[in-house]
Amino acid sequence: MKRSIAIFDTTLRDGEQAPGCSMGVDDKIQVAEQLELLGADVVEAGFPAASMGDFDAVTAISKKAGNICVAALCRARPRDINIAAKALKYACKARIHTFIATSDIHMRYKLNMTRNEVIDAVRKNVRLAKSLAPQVEFSAEDASRTERSFLLDVVECALDAGATIINLPDTVGYTMPHEYGEMFRSVRWRFPDESITLSAHAHDDLGLAVANSLAAVQNGAGQVECTINGIGERAGNASLEEVVMALKTRTYLFNADTDINTEMLYPLSRLVSSVIHVPVPPNKAVVGDNAFAHEAGIHQDGILKNPLTYEIMTPQSVGVDMRKLVIGKHSGRHALYEQCRRIGVELTADEMNVLYTTVINMADEQGEIKLEDLQCIIEKNFSHAVETI
Ligand code: MN
Repeated sequence: MKRSIAIFDTTLRDGEQAPGCSMGVDDKIQVAEQLELLGADVVEAGFPAASMGDFDAVTAISKKAGNICVAALCRARPRDINIAAKALKYACKARIHTFIATSDIHMRYKLNMTRNEVIDAVRKNVRLAKSLAPQVEFSAEDASRTERSFLLDVVECALDAGATIINLPDTVGYTMPHEYGEMFRSVRWRFPDESITLSAHAHDDLGLAVANSLAAVQNGAGQVECTINGIGERAGNASLEEVVMALKTRTYLFNADTDINTEMLYPLSRLVSSVIHVPVPPNKAVVGDNAFAHEAGIHQDGILKNPLTYEIMTPQSVGVDMRKLVIGKHSGRHALYEQCRRIGVELTADEMNVLYTTVINMADEQGEIKLEDLQCIIEKNFSHAVETI
């Protein structure tokens, strides 16, 4: 049977931690509402102990959230956990997400704690969290650089103390897909109980966040943590739209899918971009302006004959109205004809030849020929056709 992969959106927490990506409480509420409509399973609304603003945002989102689970991040410390529980008080479905670093480098230089002290902190704080919220997720920070047998000990301790979701983050974006997959395989093998959800959380420092998340899914992860437009610390998190569309496009390969309403991906990408004033790069997978744009004549001709020739998913499936046929110097006659048809202009074959030569010469000089330019050229050269525009 096809597995359903839970989508844990952390745009409002890890995403917001990225430089220049801060959001106000009202913005966060708006994004959270859209994430619920999108069909995300979990929204990580913030880190309540970190600031009053985060506390207020988590509280407000908890009050408004319906069926979506609201998660709040906190260190494995009683004060953080109590504050997180307070912020989550009004949520129909609440999850405390607590973490502590488990790699030698983090324990030694950041925490100044021994392995035994870390295990102790996990036991006490996961227990406390479990007494305050129905669901507890535990993250072994820097899991991908954690010595394996110690990681297994920490996971066992968190499970014994009441966590049911175990996140194994590649906090620093260091791991390779086959290594990340292998880590999930070994943890899953050790803890095969299906009521335990393993979660992937990948960073894009080497451009592998999505690939790593998919490797985790192939090796037993049932939840992926990701963000809209891939925003997040440093180079960002795994991009939600890319993970979702990879699973949807290759669903038979993964034997897995998500419950995301993919038609909302593009509108939500633009909403987040406008809220944080960070544009989406044109070549961004799935939601970039060029993701469904075709300029090369051979590609345009193929697409118009059968979209499957050069498109692995339809623009409509991610909420883009229509594919963009860019008229530039690489374009062919077929696309120009299609563009004329779209604006209601009918020309004879001879006229089309003249138009094509004119357009290509112009594109050579000025680059892309916009729709307005095309209309101008037609008006100037073929005035009889103008009435139909
Ligand atoms: Mn992170």
